[in-house]
Amino acid sequence: ELVVENLVKSFGGNAVLEDITFTVADGEFFTLLGPSGCGKSTTLSCVAGLENPDAGTIRVGDRVFFDGRSRTVPPEERNLGLVFQSYALWPHMTIADNLALPLKLRKVPKDRRRELIDDALAKVDMLPLRDRYPHQLSGGQQQRVALARGIVYSPGVLLLDEPLSNLDAKLRDQARSWLKTLQREVGITTVYVTHDQVEAMSLSDRVAVFMDGRMRQVGTPAEIYESPATPEVAGFIGRCN
Ligand code: ATP
Ligand code: MG
Repeated sequence: ELVVENLVKSFGGNAVLEDITFTVADGEFFTLLGPSGCGKSTTLSCVAGLENPDAGTIRVGDRVFFDGRSRTVPPEERNLGLVFQSYALWPHMTIADNLALPLKLRKVPKDRRRELIDDALAKVDMLPLRDRYPHQLSGGQQQRVALARGIVYSPGVLLLDEPLSNLDAKLRDQARSWLKTLQREVGITTVYVTHDQVEAMSLSDRVAVFMDGRMRQVGTPAEIYESPATPEVAGFIGRCN
């Protein structure tokens, strides 16, 4: 369970997050949806510990990451899987070695590493390509490898920031469906960031709609679609009433 409460953040006097509060249940696929600049990535960065909020609390289970004043757990000890839009794999390393890196950092022994790597690659259907280099893969395949790298050490929570945005429309559709399958199979608690309504509605158990640094509504895709909280939400998800 990830709990974010009353998160506030500004950059140089500009309020970017105002009172962001949400809870993601174990195994839930939770999406932050909203237009460019509304604060989605900043929220993820605060959860990951790449930025610190000005106020508010962040915890996973009973591990408090930020207690309202200061960072109580550094980023590398938060046990989170991070996959960002720029999913850069190391070009001079094979796919398997790219996945080995986070395991080495965590001091996982060598024989165990191989097991975990092959297991993660199998989950995204990339096992046969384990010894290739990134430039020998398509963009969609590289994106899958990036996801495998995000789950290889079994993080408690997976944070995905527009991980499909470099793909063309057709690949995105495919990627969306296996992403959902993957999340179900692995059963991992996931926070997904996107500005794409269709993506949010089709993938998520629940969606939080962000606008101008505030959360306007949180609910299941059906709830948001059927009863948008404000005209702005209705407009953004493409429904006028
Ligand atoms: P997008 O969909 O374009 O990725 P977003 O919802 O992820 O947008 P954020 O990246 O969270 O938006 O940015 C929210 C606001 O905070 C923007 O106005 C952005 O310019 C500003 N911002 C983000 N990071 C910083 C920073 N490190 N320094 C100053 N301003 C920042
Ligand atoms: Mg962003």
